[in-house]
Amino acid sequence: MSRADEIRNLHQDYVMPTYAPGLALVRGKGSKVWDADGNGYLDFLSGISVVNVGHCHPRVVRAIRAQAGTLMHVSNLYFNEHQPRLAKELAARSLGGKCFFCNSGAEANEALIKLARLWGHESGRYEIITFRNSFHGRTLATLTATGQAKVQDGFEPLPAGFVYADYNDLDSVRAAVTDKTVAVLVEAVQGEGGVRPATGAFMSGLRALCDEKDLLLFCDEVQCGMGRTGTWFGYQLYDMEPDAISLAKGLGGGFPIGAIVSNRKLADVFQPGRHATTFGGTPLACAAACAVIEVIEEEGLLENASDMGDLFRELLEKTARKHDFIREVRGAGLMIGMVLDRPAKPLETLLQEKGLLGLATSENVLRFLPPLNVKAAEVRKAARLVGKACAEWDKTLHAS
Ligand SMILES: *Cc1c(COP(=O)(O)O)cnc(C)c1O
Repeated sequence: MSRADEIRNLHQDYVMPTYAPGLALVRGKGSKVWDADGNGYLDFLSGISVVNVGHCHPRVVRAIRAQAGTLMHVSNLYFNEHQPRLAKELAARSLGGKCFFCNSGAEANEALIKLARLWGHESGRYEIITFRNSFHGRTLATLTATGQAKVQDGFEPLPAGFVYADYNDLDSVRAAVTDKTVAVLVEAVQGEGGVRPATGAFMSGLRALCDEKDLLLFCDEVQCGMGRTGTWFGYQLYDMEPDAISLAKGLGGGFPIGAIVSNRKLADVFQPGRHATTFGGTPLACAAACAVIEVIEEEGLLENASDMGDLFRELLEKTARKHDFIREVRGAGLMIGMVLDRPAKPLETLLQEKGLLGLATSENVLRFLPPLNVKAAEVRKAARLVGKACAEWDKTLHAS
């Protein structure tokens, strides 16, 4: 039995089948990963926008190793030196208020939901408007915030207080506002929803509407944040500011950590005893995240994400012009979707066989989220593999 088969069998026997993995990966470096049988892959998924500075970046590895041998966890009953340091770095790059730390994207969005409810409590407002096709997590509240039936089916009764509007349709948001509405939660670029960027008019319009109706505006930056779009945060592509954002995925460069960052207005809504989590903002997680921010800053990765994103999109568009089944290439920075006229899964599989990892999303979209420090040569190689896979696929489509 191969090493990969051994891992696969053990997994099938003992791990609940919430996912359906194919490859068994055992090692990574930069934009490359290797499977248990020694095959190498160009990783253009980065663990779904998590290892944004590449696999095992030496600086992040060093920070984790040093902190693991110094102090891993003390609980939030005590100060730790890295948590406020990270909070300052995040606030300085975004909304200038304060942070709350947790461990995942769902948990960060839960914190936003609780923050909104607490803020609106006195005026009796609690409804949050979210969007069809959005994704906000898998806890009961965040799967309810997620505007997709496939995520909710079977888990009823769902928590009350969520209302859905259409993305990029300001009128539908206006129509959803009631005297119970307290906040709007939106992704600047919908990730799981098929790499769909918001329009400028929509994002500015949301801000204006929230100001007019005294609503909070939240951006879920779990996937599009931390440099992914070529700006620190996705909302910074637009001429507006939300009141708070949620972060996770890329924040710790592979080490689990989530956060919310607020503006000054919301900085002190949570008082002692109102919200908490044991593992939130440990010295270890925060040391990792601080190292990630330093790497993005010092290695100029926002600019690289923007340049490499332009290059990759341009090359993918060339391929798109050759094949009718490719409808569109869209996205921002290194968050890129190739939209097909049919399910994208077979193309994902073909690419994997050729040594390139991407992900079929929202049925018809092939999503790419390469590390922000990906090199031009790697982008060209990935684009060549996509071109080859599409040509082969086209042939089989026409043969049948
Ligand atoms: C992945 C994701 C989440 C959920 O994050 P978890 O860490 O899996 O809980 C929430 N929002 C968006 C936009 C995401 O992409």
